[in-house]
Amino acid sequence: MAAPMDCLVSPEGEGSAESRTSGVEVALPSDPAAPAPLCPHGPTLLFVKVSQGKEEARKFYACSACRDRKDCNFFQWEDEKLSEARLAAREIHNQRCQPPLSRAQCIERYLSFIQLPLTQRKFCQSCQQLLLPADWREHGEHQLLADISVTQLGRPSQLLYPLENKKTHAQYLFADRSCRFLAGLVATLGFRRVLCVGAPRLHEQIRLTAPGEKSDMRSLLLDIDFRYSQFYLEESFCRYNMFNHHFFDGKAALEVCKAFLQEEEGKGVIMVTDPPFGGLVEPLAVTFKKLIAVWGEGQSQSQDDSHKELPIFWIFPYFFESRICQYFPSFCMLDYQVDYDNHALYKHGKTGRKQSPVRIFTNIPPNKIILPSEEGYRFCPLCQRYVSRENQHCVHCNSCTSKDGRKWSHCFLCKKCVKPSWIHCDTCNRCTLPDHSCSGPKDGCFVCGVLDHKRSNCPNIGTSRRANKAVRKQKQRKRSKIRREALKDKP
Ligand code: SAH
Ligand code: ZN
Ligand code: ZN
Ligand code: ZN
Ligand code: ZN
Repeated sequence: MAAPMDCLVSPEGEGSAESRTSGVEVALPSDPAAPAPLCPHGPTLLFVKVSQGKEEARKFYACSACRDRKDCNFFQWEDEKLSEARLAAREIHNQRCQPPLSRAQCIERYLSFIQLPLTQRKFCQSCQQLLLPADWREHGEHQLLADISVTQLGRPSQLLYPLENKKTHAQYLFADRSCRFLAGLVATLGFRRVLCVGAPRLHEQIRLTAPGEKSDMRSLLLDIDFRYSQFYLEESFCRYNMFNHHFFDGKAALEVCKAFLQEEEGKGVIMVTDPPFGGLVEPLAVTFKKLIAVWGEGQSQSQDDSHKELPIFWIFPYFFESRICQYFPSFCMLDYQVDYDNHALYKHGKTGRKQSPVRIFTNIPPNKIILPSEEGYRFCPLCQRYVSRENQHCVHCNSCTSKDGRKWSHCFLCKKCVKPSWIHCDTCNRCTLPDHSCSGPKDGCFVCGVLDHKRSNCPNIGTSRRANKAVRKQKQRKRSKIRREALKDKP
């Protein structure tokens, strides 16, 4: 999952919420035909700063994948003209940032590696690299793992350390429970091919077959993490940027993905994606629509199929529901709570820890998706879907309304169900935390006042402007006051 796991505060809003540089949104190019300049991560995206409620006139290009300037510092104004010299320098820089080994070299090394006897199969933990005998000397002083077994090679996500850098990779690996559930689910639903986009651990789970079992499930991993290219052949891994649909190894890699999606006229394939949610929903939606289109090209032309969509599981926090459904109206959110290994806060609810806010969004009819009863999920015949143990059907809303897994209660003034800890505030004219300050949102989202996300992740961002303006004005007043005071002190 997604980047700032800690910008996901608990459902009640306690905990530290990470504040990101807010006020930057994806923009449309003034000239739709103008190609975006390239950074080492492929075509950049056009952004616009929103300040004081208004979009600034001058848009700029920045890296699609790295939300931290430290990881990729590409910056160019939309209307900026670069000299030939600077363009050439940029080209060299982009080249220099590419991984040291080509895809073909990685594959060659992998094939040599698996030929080695067990005692010679070493992995350098310092460099996160499989070593061939010729490399040993160079890594002499490094932390090495020896006797790398076939099983270990099949589970690179356990060999590699997760890149937790929130603003770029945000590698949060599925807990075993969730990983097995997902792999089992796609098999039960009858899929034979899984396109794993940013889901390396699910990819390996699908490829693993229990001893003695024969599986005809195949998986293709698309991920930006170069380290995975050491472990897979061409047809099971492509280095890919999901924020701009960029294949780092060019057309050949795109063809691999295309063939995978279009096989059997597109039947039997599902896409499962678990993107960093520190990124923006919009570019992800654009990318997924492109992948859907690639799949669609392979469809047989009979009218019968023309309305069909590529089946998708998009794994994301529940408070993005309205945002995701805005781009994919056919999607619905399942109650299943997805757990992660390397995030202490979001393990399964029953362990007494906080419940995971991460859910599955899908265009598969939810009544087909059986959630595990041993974890308390049950079928609601009225909603025609599986819901979590405490999610109760509200007769007024005519639906099982809980989003966070706890029992919600209906407020007749708000005409909807709300979190159990909320009460209706007559001043604010809505339900909110009992100890809120009526003057407006403080710690939560500036846009909608909800405490479980920040403005930068707000699903209602479109309506953000006014609230934002107020906050900025306040800050500005403060700043000018400080400035005035500082001036007063001057002789
Ligand atoms: N829960 C998943 C991992 C999700 S973490 C699992 O266990 O399989 C997010 C994944 O997306 C990481 O593997 C990360 O390398 C990848 N990723 C991050 N930014 C990306 C980008 N711009 N394009 C493609 N993959 C990206
Ligand atoms: Zn970049
Ligand atoms: Zn090393
Ligand atoms: Zn209700
Ligand atoms: Zn209310």
